Amino acid sequence: MGTRIIICSNCGTLNKNNDYCEFCNTLISDRKKREIKADEVKQKQIKEVIQELENPNLAERLKKHPNILYKITGWLLYSVITVVSAIGAGLAWFIAMVAAG
Ligand SMILES: [Zn+2]
Repeated sequence: MGTRIIICSNCGTLNKNNDYCEFCNTLISDRKKREIKADEVKQKQIKEVIQELENPNLAERLKKHPNILYKITGWLLYSVITVVSAIGAGLAWFIAMVAAG
């Protein structure tokens, strides 16, 4: 492990083994930048999966799936979504009634 000297692209300060500039706190480490980038990609993928799960069309697609296991999953998902939206609607109604006095 040698000493990494990185010149800050923002202020020109020489930094030794720092991820952030000593002087202006700019991120200067390429490794750290890659880590952050990889993290962002991971977060995006998680978000996409969540979106896919919350998408009611998924339940519809699964219900029509030829595989019985997928079909059952589709129906389960469909019931869960139906129940959750029913509770949500009920809650909204309740809050509206309370707010109305
Ligand atoms: Zn700097």
